[in-house]
Amino acid sequence: NLSDRLAETFKRLKGHGKLSEANIADALREVRLALLEADVNYKVAKDFVAGVRERAVGQEVMKSLTPAQQVIKIVREELSSLMGGQAEGLNLIGRPPQVLMMVGLQGAGKTTTAGKLARMLAGMGKKPLLVPADVQRPAAIEQLKKLGAQLGVPVHDSDPGGDPVDICVRALGTASRLGCDALILDTAGRLHIDEPLMAQLERIKQKLQPGEILLVADAMTGQDAVNVAEAFHQRLGLSGVVLTKVEGDARGGAALSIRAVTGVPIKLVGVGEKLDALEPFHPDRMAGRILGMGDVLSLVEKAASAFEQEKAQALAKKMAKNEFDLEDFREQIRQIRKLGSLESILGMLPGAGKLKGMKDMQPDEKEIGRVEAIISSMTPGERAKPQIIDASRRKRIAAGSGVTVADVNRLLKNFTQAKKMMKQVSKLGGKRKGLKRLL
Ligand code: GDP
Ligand code: MG
Repeated sequence: NLSDRLAETFKRLKGHGKLSEANIADALREVRLALLEADVNYKVAKDFVAGVRERAVGQEVMKSLTPAQQVIKIVREELSSLMGGQAEGLNLIGRPPQVLMMVGLQGAGKTTTAGKLARMLAGMGKKPLLVPADVQRPAAIEQLKKLGAQLGVPVHDSDPGGDPVDICVRALGTASRLGCDALILDTAGRLHIDEPLMAQLERIKQKLQPGEILLVADAMTGQDAVNVAEAFHQRLGLSGVVLTKVEGDARGGAALSIRAVTGVPIKLVGVGEKLDALEPFHPDRMAGRILGMGDVLSLVEKAASAFEQEKAQALAKKMAKNEFDLEDFREQIRQIRKLGSLESILGMLPGAGKLKGMKDMQPDEKEIGRVEAIISSMTPGERAKPQIIDASRRKRIAAGSGVTVADVNRLLKNFTQAKKMMKQVSKLGGKRKGLKRLL
C-alpha cells in the first residue's frame, strides 16, 4: 500500500548522507508511482511531485543537515496541503434551521451518515430533525426512522408516495413545530448519475437553500468517487464531501485526489458502520498517517540488513500467495550465500518464531552449492512448476548438474516442505497487522 511504498522510498533516501538532484529525482519518481498505485488522479500525482521537487531541489534540502528527513517533511506538508491543509468544519452559522443536504450514489452511505451526523449535531447541543427524502426505495424511510429511534432524534414523517421537494418543504414545518434547529435531508441515490435525479436534487436545493450540500462518497471506489464528486459539484455546487468506509480503504486515492480535483474539501470521514463512527477530517493527520510507517518501517529496516529489501518483499508476497517457486528458491539460496541464514529471513515474518525445525532447513555451504547447481540445470518451466518434474526429467537434471537422482529427489522434497512451511508462516503472520501491511 501507499504507506509501505513511501516508507521504502524514504528508507533508500536515508541511505544517502547528502542528496543530489538525481537522488531526489529517483525518490520522487517512486513517490509518483506510489501515488498512482494508490489510485491517486494522474494529474494530481504529477503536480504533487512537481511541487515537492521545486521545494526539495532548492536550498531547503541541499543545505540541510538531514536531507532525507527534510524531503519527508516536505512530502508530508505537501500531502497535507493537497488535501486542503486545514480541517474544514461544518457550516452551522446563519439563521436556523440550518439545512444539511446529503447527496450521493446508492450505497455510498447517505442514510447511515445522516444518522451519524444527527448524533454528532445532538452532541454539539443542536436539535436535529432527520428528513427521509428518498422515496425511490420504501425501505429507505424505514431505515432512517430506525436510526432516529436509536438516537432519540425526531424523524419527519415522509409520505412514501410524495414528491421529495414537497417532503422537504413540509419538513421545515415539522422542524419549527418540534423546535428543531437543523434539518438533515437524506436524498435519493442512484447507481449512476442521471438527469432526473440531478434535477430533483437541484429543486430541493432551490427550495431549501441548504447551508451544507454534502456529497457522501465511498472511499473504496477510488477514482470513481472523484469522478462522482466532480459531476455532483458541477451540477449542485457541493460544500463538502463525507468520505465513507475510510477504515477499509488501504489505498487512499479518493482522499488524496478529491480536494485537488474538485476544490471541494473533505469535511468528515466515516470509519465504520456504527453511529459513532464519524470523524472530522484533518488533512495534516491523514498525511501523518500515510507517512507514519511505524512498525512497517522497522520491519523493512530489519529486512534490509539481512536481505535485500526488494527481494525480501517480493519473496514475502509470493509466500503469502503461495506462488513461491524454484526460481525464487534459487534466488534465496544465492542470498543466503551472500549473507546469512534462512532462519533470519523467516524470523522477520511475524509468527515465524513459533515454528519449530527451522534450523533443519539450514543447509551447509557445500549443500547450498549443489542445490544451486541442480536448480540451474532445470528449465525455466520446471522452476516455475516443479510438479512437472517427472522421473525422466529428474534423470536429465541429475546428469546435467553432476549429482545423483536421489539428490534431485531430496531437493524437491525439501522445497515442497519449505513451501508448505512458508504458507504456514504467512498464515500466522497474516493475522498480524504488520505483515499485512508489509504485503
Ligand atoms: P445509501 O444508499 O447511500 O443511503 O447508503 P447506506 O447508508 O444505506 O449505507 C450502505 C452500506 O454502507 C451500509 O451497509 C452501511 O452500514 C455501510 N456504511 C456506511 N458508512 C460506512 C462506513 O463509514 N464504514 C463502513 N464500513 N460501512 C459504512
Ligand atoms: Mg439511503
